[in-house]
Amino acid sequence: MTDFVTRFAPSPTGLLHLGHAFSALTAHAAAKAAGGRFLLRIEDIDQGRCRPEFEEAIHEDLAWLGVAWEEPVRRQSDHFADYAAALERLREKGALYRCFKTRKEIADEIARAPHLTPDGPEGPQYTGGALPPDEERALMDEGAAYAWRLSMKNARAILGDAFDKLSFIEEGCGPKGETGTIKATPEIFGDPVVARKDLGASYHIAAVHDDALQGVTHVIRGEDLFLAAHLHRLLQALLDFPAPVYRHHRLITDDNGKRFAKRDKAATLQAMREGGAKPQDIRARLGLG
Ligand code: GLU
Repeated sequence: MTDFVTRFAPSPTGLLHLGHAFSALTAHAAAKAAGGRFLLRIEDIDQGRCRPEFEEAIHEDLAWLGVAWEEPVRRQSDHFADYAAALERLREKGALYRCFKTRKEIADEIARAPHLTPDGPEGPQYTGGALPPDEERALMDEGAAYAWRLSMKNARAILGDAFDKLSFIEEGCGPKGETGTIKATPEIFGDPVVARKDLGASYHIAAVHDDALQGVTHVIRGEDLFLAAHLHRLLQALLDFPAPVYRHHRLITDDNGKRFAKRDKAATLQAMREGGAKPQDIRARLGLG
């Protein structure tokens, strides 16, 4: 019985690049060093952006790099019912409200009072709240589309004093050097969308659910997701999920100090492999020796 479980959780929206290789190799090495388990998870809830050929390439690239993962691989698009059930639990607790507004309506609202809505990790810290029941009913009867948002006000009421005591352990580093015990401040997200109008789930709910289900003890990923841990910690508390330890790592950049993106074809592992690179060249380029 091992008490160290980590995962690499890519979204198959493009080919893996050097940044992904660093993440996967870092998590894989950590599991190995701890005598623990390494999981691969395919985060493909956004079916409009994900492609089977990219999923296939993930397996191919990781195997080539020398990363070994446990089977079966969890593919999130096979488990929408799980995320719906987690959302239902939040809804029953009174933590969620329906948001019928379009992005444009929210942007217009904010433009009228910009000082009230500073930006958070995912855009404006919108906290519109639920509509009066009769207005909501009328929109529902019309079949209007809505997202579910997590109400920070309600979450605070549900958790009481525990809300302000939420924290997580960062064994790596956030973008500003944050490390150690970090006080969670999920309110920086405003009232985040936890179920998109089009998808019925969000990355946050699916990731937190799966980390708990899969017994992930250590979340190892890029520091671009450091702020997400603030929200994830709150979702874990509301859903009675255990809190994993976080190890956010530095991001890999190109020669100009720019982060790799999926559109940087030359930095994809597939292109590098086809250009004759060997796994040890990738490791050397990443400073992994
Ligand atoms: N699927 C996310 C991504 O591709 C990673 C999520 C995570 O590691 O929590 O960026």
